[in-house]
Amino acid sequence: MTRPVQKIDTKGIAEVLATGMKLKSVMNKKGLKRARCVCPRCGGTIRATLAGARNHLHMACDGGCGMQMME
Ligand SMILES: [Zn+2]
Repeated sequence: MTRPVQKIDTKGIAEVLATGMKLKSVMNKKGLKRARCVCPRCGGTIRATLAGARNHLHMACDGGCGMQMME
């Protein structure tokens, strides 16, 4: 069995992680559970939520660039 090699965009991942971590630290500092910010990739709106006791970050861009993260 051979499986197609998945191409991973590491530059994109680094960008998503950097955005997510920055957002999370700002939200923690301000005590926010929900926040929005401008997407650095496409200029759309990223909606972010901190969920659970350990503040897991969920975020997704609605601008159509596919930026999203679930920690
Ligand atoms: Zn975007």
